[in-house]
Amino acid sequence: MTLTYNPSGPLAKLGVLDQCRSEDTASRSHYIFDTAGRVLGYYGNAFIKEKGHMYPGQRGNLRIPRQRLQQLLLRRLEAVGVPVFWGKCLTDVKVVPMALMPPLPNTVSAVASRPPTHCVRLAFEDGSCCTARLAVGADGIRSRARRIVEHKVLCHLEQRQKRARQRAQRVPLSLIHI
Ligand SMILES: Cc1cc2nc3c(=O)[nH]c(=O)nc-3n(C[C@H](O)[C@H](O)[C@H](O)COP(=O)(O)OP(=O)(O)OC[C@H]3O[C@@H](n4cnc5c(N)ncnc54)[C@H](O)[C@@H]3O)c2cc1C
Repeated sequence: MTLTYNPSGPLAKLGVLDQCRSEDTASRSHYIFDTAGRVLGYYGNAFIKEKGHMYPGQRGNLRIPRQRLQQLLLRRLEAVGVPVFWGKCLTDVKVVPMALMPPLPNTVSAVASRPPTHCVRLAFEDGSCCTARLAVGADGIRSRARRIVEHKVLCHLEQRQKRARQRAQRVPLSLIHI
C-alpha cells in the first residue's frame, strides 16, 4: 500500500508512523520498459532528489504490505486494551437505553462531557450481540452498517410524514359547521 508520510497525520496519531517508516520498501525509482527491455521512462522520488527538489529529511510516500499495516494497527489496539472479535457479520443496529449498557472496562474512559442516555446494540449473524457507547461502521464501500442505519432513518421519516399527513387531514368540527 502507498501511504502518505506525514509526521502529524493519521499514522502518527495512531502511533504506527515510526514502524511504517522502518518497514518502508526502498522503491523510490520506477522504470517503465517496452517488450524488448528498453527503458521508456522513469519516475519516483529518487529522481526528484537528484534534481534538488527534496529537502534533507523530507520523505515521499511510504510503501508497506497491506497485511503488515493491519498487523501494526492490531498490535496498537492490543496495547491499549481494545479487544478484536473476528468472523462477526453485522445484521442489525439498534439504539437502546443506556441502562442496557454493561459497565466499561477499567482501560476505557468515557470522553463525553454529559452522560449519554442511549447506547447502541449490534446484532451478528451467529446470534451474538454486543452493546457499545459508539459504533463506527468501517465495513467498506458496500457497508452493511450504513444500509441498516439508512433504512431505519428512512422508515422513521416516513412514519413522521404519515403522522403529519394524518394530523393535517383532521379538520376541526367547527370549520365544517356541525
Ligand atoms: C487495488 C487497490 C489498491 C489500493 N491501493 C491503495 C494504496 O496504495 N493506498 C491507499 O491509501 N489506499 C489504497 N486503496 C484503497 C484502500 O484499500 C481503501 O480505501 C481502504 O481499504 C478502505 O478501508 P475501509 O476500512 O473503509 O474498508 P475495507 O478495507 O473494505 O474494509 C472493510 C471491512 O469490513 C468487513 N465487513 C464488510 N461487511 C461486513 C459486515 N456486515 N459485518 C462485519 N464486517 C464486515 C470486510 O470484511 C472488511 O474487512 C486501494 C484499493 C484497491 C482496491
